[in-house]
Formats: sequence, structure tokens, C-alpha cells
Amino acid sequence: MFGFGALGVVLAIVGAFAASRRLARPIIALEAAARKVSAGEHAQVEVETRDEIGRLARSFNRMVNAVEERERQIAHMAFHDSLTGLANRTLLREQIALALHRHGGADFALFCLDLDNFKSVNDTLGHPTGDALLCEVATRLAETCPQGFVARLGGDEFAVIVQDGSGAADQTGRAIVQALTRPFTVNGHRIVTGGSVGIALAPQDGQDATSLLKNADLALYRAKHDGKGSHRFFENAMDAEAQARRAMEVDLHDALRNGELELHFQPLFGLSQNRVTAFEALMRWNHPVRGLVSPIDFIPLAEETGLIIPIGEWALHEACRIATSWGDDIRVAVNVSPVQFRSSTLNSIVLQALARSGLEPQRLELEITESLFIDNVEATLASLHSLKVLGVRVALDDFGTGYSSLSYLRSFPFDKLKIDRSFIVDLLANKGATAIIRAITTLADALGIETTAEGVESSEQLDILRSEGCNQIQGYLFSRPIPASEVPALLVKLSGSRMAA
Ligand code: C2E
Ligand code: MG
Ligand code: MG
Repeated sequence: MFGFGALGVVLAIVGAFAASRRLARPIIALEAAARKVSAGEHAQVEVETRDEIGRLARSFNRMVNAVEERERQIAHMAFHDSLTGLANRTLLREQIALALHRHGGADFALFCLDLDNFKSVNDTLGHPTGDALLCEVATRLAETCPQGFVARLGGDEFAVIVQDGSGAADQTGRAIVQALTRPFTVNGHRIVTGGSVGIALAPQDGQDATSLLKNADLALYRAKHDGKGSHRFFENAMDAEAQARRAMEVDLHDALRNGELELHFQPLFGLSQNRVTAFEALMRWNHPVRGLVSPIDFIPLAEETGLIIPIGEWALHEACRIATSWGDDIRVAVNVSPVQFRSSTLNSIVLQALARSGLEPQRLELEITESLFIDNVEATLASLHSLKVLGVRVALDDFGTGYSSLSYLRSFPFDKLKIDRSFIVDLLANKGATAIIRAITTLADALGIETTAEGVESSEQLDILRSEGCNQIQGYLFSRPIPASEVPALLVKLSGSRMAA
């Protein structure tokens, strides 16, 4: 009895032990796998049974696969652009670092590019078409640089890394520009865009991703400034220029506050009235170190940085204030930059300047340039009409130099065309120039628009302009731009019949 009893107990213990081993083994395996997964390793458990433990093992394996798939997606999202599927800036930087490391001195070129008028595509055709265009650009870049590494940096900016020296990089740069110049067909729209390319060569133009990207960007900036649709290599001078630009930008910030900006005034002489009918306000910057800086040098910088908004606002107030001290029959003309024009605040700034100074609206003339019409003709016309409603006059400056289309003249009642100086310079040397002046004055007359000739320096030019029917003359012949304090004396000097025929 005792022997059987003891055997039974031993068998029970052995049986229980075996059963617990069978139960515990898969659980131990699961636990080990879970630990591996949490350490970031791949792990799967073997499925041996069809019971609950087996199901648990299967679920565990499925969960591990799903987690890994999601990790892959997250990693992809972190390194790729969701719109085009191209590498993003982070991955590009990594790739540059890798290339610098791997090739230890071997050549590769970094191309940075952006589209020339992407904004207007977005504005006129809508964002979905803009997005589709970016995808087409991505495809075209990949086709143009089959061995290259293509990335999208954001917006309409792309970059390509290609393993080649400067000779081949020149060809590649040209090929990219050409590829972007070919028209795109997107959502049924035929889009002509074009792009500019800046190139930095490794390793000479930078030992790390940051400096290579910066330098390719500087070259791109230059390419865009030198006329769009071109490619440029980085040069060390560009870095120095960029630093000078930054220094000037910092100074320009203070210029307004420190009272370093000043308006000078140049008379517009009315030929039929035989007197000064207006003054154009021209900005001057008395830099404490550089001396007098020309608006040609600082207005573009002010436009790039947005500083033109407060500076332009100041100019409007100042010009209106000063003009109130002149006779009621003398207007003041103020240049308005396209950047100011496109900002939503121009109307209220003009209104404020008029209200604060008490100047009659029809004594204020805003000079705008034709470049406003490149982008968005409809929006430009709408803004022009809303300015006219205020009662101010609008003149088209530098007429004939840019993108003038006669149809704009028909769709907007400009008060004045200012014929660009380049046509006046040609007057004495070139018979064709006279014909152009005649065509402009005849057209303007028919449309009821006044004409002013800019940059008149000689009495010979004056005679031709008078006989061709130009209404007003502006130029060094009468006076250079002068400080406001000298205006009264100049008015006295120019009054009378000195310039009469
Ligand atoms: P703009 O509006 O076409 O002004 C005429 C320019 O021609 C002025 O240059 C003037 O000094 C110059 N000029 C006038 N008569 C003659 C002449 O007989 N011969 C020659 N060679 N030049 C003559 P400035 O003052 O250097 O201004 C250059 C440009 O800077 C202006 O061209 C205008 O586009 C811009 N600018 C000037 N002031 C302002 C401003 O307050 N706001 C904005 N947005 N732009 C301004
Ligand atoms: Mg002007
Ligand atoms: Mg002009």
C-alpha cells in the first residue's frame, strides 16, 4: 500500500512537472522574444500547439510584424517628403555627410534649385495643380540625373547630389535648367515654369553638409539675380557679398529709426504749363560710414527683407507732409515697390498719409512698375482700381523696359506713362528712338494718358520731346534731385519763360 502510494505520489510529481514544463516553455520563449523586441531586435516565437498558448504566440508574431511595419513607415516619413516621395532635407544632409566621408576627397556636386514662378502657378491654378507640378518636377529631375540622389527641401526647392567633377557638373546644371524649361502638362494645364540652379562642389566648397548647402544656396541666389533660368557655381566672393548684404541689412534696420533716410525731390516740368507741375520723391540714405548710398543699392535689399514696407510707409508720410508746403498746383510723386503694392496695407497707409498731412488726394501720384503685371494681372488690376477709388493718381514708371503689354493700358486708366530714360538716351543717336517716342505719345494721347520723359539731360533731347508731344520733362537738364529745403529756390529759378519754346 505504502509502496503504491509512494509510486503514485512520485508519478504525480513527475507528471505535474512535465506538464508545467510543457506549459512554461512557450511562455518563457514568449517572454524572451518580448525582451528582444523591446530591445529593438527582430523576434518571432515558434508556434507548436493549437491551444491558447499557440494562439497567443501567433498573435505575438503578428503584433511584432505590425509594429515593425509601422516603424518602417514612421522612419520613411521622417526622411522623405510625403508629396513627392523624394528624400527630405534630413536625409539629404545625411547623404551629403556620407558622401563626404565615403569618398574622402573624391568629387561630387550638390545642386540646389528652385522654380522661377511657382508662386504664380499656385495663385492662379490652385494648390492641387501646384502640388501636381512639384511631383512632375520630381520625376523630371530623377530622369535628368539618373545616377543622382534627388531630394525636396521644401516648397519649390529641390537638391540633387551627383558624383562628378566641375566639368560634368556644368553639363548637369545646364541639363537641369533645360529640363525645367520644357513645358509641363499638369491637370490639363500647360505650365511653363523654368528654374534656376546653384552648384557647390565637394570637397572644395565645403567640408560638411551645412556649408555645402549654404554655398549652393548662395550660388542659387546669384543665379536668380543674374536672370532666371540659369545655373551658377559657388564662388568665395559670394560669401563675402552675402556678409556685406547682411551687414547692410542690419544697418538698414536702424536707418529709419536713426533718421538716416531722407527724401530728395526732382522737378517734373510741364511743357504746356511752362512750369514745374510736380516733384518726384527719391530716397537717399546717409549711411554713417558708407556715406550716401544709392536707392539702386538699398531698395532691392529692402524689398528682399520686407523692410521696404516700413520704409515705404515713411516715404509716403514724409512726401505728403513736405508737399503740403508747396503750391496747390504742384503734385508729389512717390515710388511704390511691388512688395508694398502686394501687401494688403498699402491702401490704408495711403489714406493715413493723406489724412495726417491734409494733402489733396489728386496731388499724390503713385509710381508703379510694369513688373507688377508679370505675376497676377487680375489681382494687380483689382488693387490698382481700389487705389484709384481713393482719388490718388497712378503713373506707370520706366515704361517700355519690362513686360509692358498694351492691353494693360486698355484695362487700367493710368494717369501717366513715364517713358524710360533708355529711350531718351537713344534720341540723338538713333532715328528709331524718335519713332518709339512718337508711338508712345500718340497712343497715350488717344487713351487720355499724360506722358513724362525721364532722364532728359540736353536741350536737343528736350526739343525732340517737345515736338513729339511729350507733356512733361524730368531730368538733369532742369535739376538733379535736391533736398526739400532747396525746393523753394528751385521753383523761383525755374519759373518764368526760361524753358519756353
Ligand atoms: P526712378 O523712379 O525711375 O527714378 C528716376 C531715377 O533717374 C532717379 O535715380 C533719378 O535721380 C535718375 N535721374 C533723373 N534724371 C536723370 C538724368 O537726367 N540722367 C540720369 N542719368 N539719371 C537721372 P535714383 O534717385 O538713383 O533712384 C533710382 C531708383 O530707385 C528709382 O528709379 C526708383 O525706382 C527707386 N527709388 C527711389 N526712391 C524710392 C522710394 O522712395 N521707394 C521706392 N520703392 N523706390 C525708390
Ligand atoms: Mg520713379
Ligand atoms: Mg523711372
